[in-house]
Amino acid sequence: MKYVIGHKKPDTDSICSAIAYAELKNIEGDNAKPVRCGPINPETEFVLDKFNVDIPQEIEDLSNKKVILVDHNEYSQAAGGLKKAELKEVVDHHRIGGLVTSNPIFFHCEPVGSTATIVADIYLNKNKEIPQKTAGILLSAILSDTVVHRSPTNTEKDTEIAKKLSEICGVDIEEYGKEMLKEKSKLGEKEPRDIILGDFKEYEFGEKLVGVGQVETVVPNEVLEQKNQLLQEMKKITTQENYNTLILLVTDLLEKDTEALITGETQNFEKAFQKEIKNNSATLKGVLSRKKQVIPPLEDTMA
Ligand code: MN
Ligand code: MN
Repeated sequence: MKYVIGHKKPDTDSICSAIAYAELKNIEGDNAKPVRCGPINPETEFVLDKFNVDIPQEIEDLSNKKVILVDHNEYSQAAGGLKKAELKEVVDHHRIGGLVTSNPIFFHCEPVGSTATIVADIYLNKNKEIPQKTAGILLSAILSDTVVHRSPTNTEKDTEIAKKLSEICGVDIEEYGKEMLKEKSKLGEKEPRDIILGDFKEYEFGEKLVGVGQVETVVPNEVLEQKNQLLQEMKKITTQENYNTLILLVTDLLEKDTEALITGETQNFEKAFQKEIKNNSATLKGVLSRKKQVIPPLEDTMA
């Protein structure tokens, strides 16, 4: 049995790509099972519910298991026990971040907007029919990661594949995309800590550990009116987890701007973005993507 799994703090791409890729493996006669590490976020729950797809089981430890990684390839973002697992494949769209294997593996990475784009492309290249439900969740993952094709991470391939998927599942991209953005923006009863860590990634830049959370929303003021509470909690987390720097990106999906809240060491951030930080925050005009617009300049300055 091969376990197909996305990153910690799973997003819609991690969950849906794992489900769809495990399904393809099974169609091909392999034995695969999608799993997740961490709770499902509300957007993903909405998507799985809409297309009537089961939530994958949670797994704590990958030790001694055969594993296929989707949507990540760094130990710091993976479920526990990966170093003791038998890694079989990687399907991803992120930077290559230090995996080491003892045997040759399939390593499929492309600089596209979502892992779901690659998974759908693999189906198409193998001439396998994409089931309607699967097309629905793959489309959702593309729209989630690319902010309905608005993100600078979106490529022509994402747009093309999404169109094919929308024809298979019979969903209008713009209409459904807006529905998803609204779903993503719902804060509900979230505590500051959950807002900070809800969509969160850790990076090692040289010796420095950096945490970067992101809230993508169509109503950024609902988040920023809690700035003081958020900063207070961020300072706590910075100390507890020994972060060199902790950043929370509050991204306005409609205006395509990001307000960054920063705690810990701030000089490198100022250098990376040529911005003065005032009251622990800075406005990053035109910034939507953590991966493409925030991490590279930070890494260049810090590593
Ligand atoms: Mn992801
Ligand atoms: Mn992704």
